[in-house]
Amino acid sequence: MSAQILDGRKVRDLLTRGLVEKFANLSAKTMAIIQVGDRAESTSYIKGKKAFAEKIGVATQHIQLPEDATLEMVLEKIENCNGDPTIRGIIVQLPLPLALDRDIIINAIDPEKDVDALTSERVKGWTEGREDALWPATVRGIKTLLEFYKIDLFGKKVVIIGRSMLVGKPLAAMCISENATVTVCHSKTADLARETLDADIVISAAGKQNLIGKEQVSPGQIVIDVGINTVEGEKLDDEIADRKLVGDVDFEEVSKIVAMITPVPGGVGPMTVLGLFQNLLDLCES
Ligand code: NAD
Repeated sequence: MSAQILDGRKVRDLLTRGLVEKFANLSAKTMAIIQVGDRAESTSYIKGKKAFAEKIGVATQHIQLPEDATLEMVLEKIENCNGDPTIRGIIVQLPLPLALDRDIIINAIDPEKDVDALTSERVKGWTEGREDALWPATVRGIKTLLEFYKIDLFGKKVVIIGRSMLVGKPLAAMCISENATVTVCHSKTADLARETLDADIVISAAGKQNLIGKEQVSPGQIVIDVGINTVEGEKLDDEIADRKLVGDVDFEEVSKIVAMITPVPGGVGPMTVLGLFQNLLDLCES
């Protein structure tokens, strides 16, 4: 391996101290997490968020509803959180059961408490690249990681794989607002390698193991792997229980070629949790 590792765990740990100090000065700082159903992966992610919150002195309220909860039941919980002055951030854990309307639910969250930045008002903020935009947690985490390693996006050619509202689209908006030239690829992109080979930075958020191999990358590139794919195998890490995690990138092969790379686990994942609580801090202080 020749690539430099962009170490999300190290950066998260270094920046955690500052968060602890800032949250210590705040009284109302509870984060509410609303979970509908009991998907194992969602439960693991929530466990990770709660553990980090505890570490930095933030209280969490985990509100659990059954898989067959009605829209009204979910909206009632959100309304309660909106009206509770001690709660400063609200997350509705995604994905929701198919029977529930995601847009109605997300937009019921008070934008002032929308820590995931997914309500229409928050989306408008980041699509317009407003100075005070709150970026979704993964995007903020990647932005912070790039800043930590002094990777400037100005004038760079960035290729993003994935166009979801949660990751791909806000990531593209963030890179544009940092003056990168951005290409967004997706499942209908005809020739992925043609897009990625001459990029300065490749960011993959597709959720497909081995999507990015040695044919898709070039020497000198920076590769950010957002993908989380769970495969059979021994538990590797405490970010998600009982699963082996791999990204979208064939780490072993790609790390021999490119200049810098994020591992999975230990890259974007820890930075996402950090980004979430940086968002909460901004909401508490605004
Ligand atoms: P999603 O399923 O909503 O979107 C996936 C995107 O990838 C789509 O836009 C799709 O067009 C594209 N895609 C799928 N297959 C492709 C292919 N073969 N070629 C090119 N594009 C393809 O998922 P999401 O919510 O955006 O998450 C993406 C991945 O990132 C998932 O693996 C998810 O688990 C992971 N994720 C990780 C973190 C983290 O903290 N590390 C946070 C959020 C999401």
